[in-house]
Amino acid sequence: MRAKRWIATLWATMAGCASIADAAPPPPQPKLLVAIAVDQFSADLLQYYRTHFTGGLKRLSGGIAFTGYQSHAATETCPGHSTILTGRHPAATGIVANTWFDAKSGSSVYCVAVRGTADPDARGPQNLRVPTLGEWLKHAQPQARVVAISGKDRAAIMMAGHHADAVYWWNDGVGFTTSSFAGPATPAVTGPAQAFDKALFAHWKASPPRLWPTAVSPACQALQAPHIFGKLPISGKVPPDLSLTVESGDFLHRTDFQDQLRVSPIFDPLTIAFVNGTIDRLHLGHGPQTDLLAVSLSTTDYIAHRYGNGGAEICVQMAALDEAIGALLTKLDSLGVPYVVALTADHGGSDAAERASEKGVDAHRVDPTAFVKRLNDAIAKQLGLNYETIVGDDPQQLTINGGPDVALHDRVRDAAVAWLKQQPEIAEVYTADQTAAAAVPPGKPADQLSVLERFHESYDKDRSGDIQVAFRPNSTLYMARGPGDTVAGHGSPWDYDRRVPILFWWPGVTPEDRKEPIETVDIAPTLAAIAHIPAPEVDGKCLESVAGACR
Ligand SMILES: [Zn+2]
Repeated sequence: MRAKRWIATLWATMAGCASIADAAPPPPQPKLLVAIAVDQFSADLLQYYRTHFTGGLKRLSGGIAFTGYQSHAATETCPGHSTILTGRHPAATGIVANTWFDAKSGSSVYCVAVRGTADPDARGPQNLRVPTLGEWLKHAQPQARVVAISGKDRAAIMMAGHHADAVYWWNDGVGFTTSSFAGPATPAVTGPAQAFDKALFAHWKASPPRLWPTAVSPACQALQAPHIFGKLPISGKVPPDLSLTVESGDFLHRTDFQDQLRVSPIFDPLTIAFVNGTIDRLHLGHGPQTDLLAVSLSTTDYIAHRYGNGGAEICVQMAALDEAIGALLTKLDSLGVPYVVALTADHGGSDAAERASEKGVDAHRVDPTAFVKRLNDAIAKQLGLNYETIVGDDPQQLTINGGPDVALHDRVRDAAVAWLKQQPEIAEVYTADQTAAAAVPPGKPADQLSVLERFHESYDKDRSGDIQVAFRPNSTLYMARGPGDTVAGHGSPWDYDRRVPILFWWPGVTPEDRKEPIETVDIAPTLAAIAHIPAPEVDGKCLESVAGACR
């Protein structure tokens, strides 16, 4: 026994690859790869609820479990989803934010908007600069099918890439839909979504849905407490006090119903119902080659934004998410084919500043609009200008509107940086030149990156701002003034927004909690190795502790 182990260790050492000898057996070559993103599912949320899960999240977190990183600073939905199946940081995917300011046109660009078309609903991956796992798969195995489904257009499209067979997302008032710019929009693709929507709406018309449960678990009851977040009173009751009445009128197409539907724990199960129907319809996993199914579940994000992630509302959502993912796994089990699941998140998140403060966190709100106005006033006064020189919506990515006058641009930049460095709200400030130059040394662990290096990982010279700004940790850049407003969120370069679970699971997997801080860009090359297909050179690395041999 001892001799055998010694030989194995010696062999592994000689191969420079000790993890192979230690690692549990890799999964059998799958017929179906399933990549799940849970929007705003921070590593902290998983840790808090892990022992409460009884369904799909219990199974998945009982596989090979890592605490991973979205390594970059711009911890938003579109950049985060763009890393998961490309293996590239946003600096390479080009998806540096949900919306960026295009200096050439002087307007904001939504990450999946399609330029040059009159169709306001046109959505596609045209801004995504690199291929996805689905494209690698189709290149190696032309008969592989690639399908992506989400509650959000940008989530589905970023995971699908450029050549998916079907890409679906939820459109308020319409249901699950697609766009011919995102993938095929033939009757074979759109018809089943329309049929699903029609049946769903007919069912609801006959039997109006209850958005929140009447009974909640003792664990969730214990988190019920009223709060005032910003100027918003949040009842803390489950179900929350909704003014909505669905009993009368054409509620299905009312804006308030659609809005509250997405922010309720029935929306992820609804998404999974559509996913499971799609698996059946396309016989995913029963094709001639390995298929890829990408799913992004949006509700955790919507609920955490509206109610924070520390109350009864998110507790109820965690239970619903657990059950919904369980239903997906049950469907996958029933296929009778080998499959592998990877689950992660597009970014983490933090609780509403007021509730975080009660727990001893030095948290506070910053009014982003007022802050940028103060900055503009200070620059105007110092340089003797009579117009606003800083434009755009994101105070963490400031764009200078200096026109073609390079000298003026530089003077505005220097004045802005000097002012920012004196503000108590600000932790770190960098110019675009500093950010561009801060390349991350190869192999540097994701938990060791400086704030400047984090900005570098989501910096693009044509799409990022002229000045990168890190507000102090636990700053909430939302004011929560009126009903439905955001009370909490994400988007900072701090670890609570970067740390996400990365879970790999397949039937028969040997459970293991791994300590090394991997990255979401490691997921795609690892899944490629598991599927026995070549991966291009990417930012992430194939994980031998999961895939066994990396080729
Ligand atoms: Zn998100």
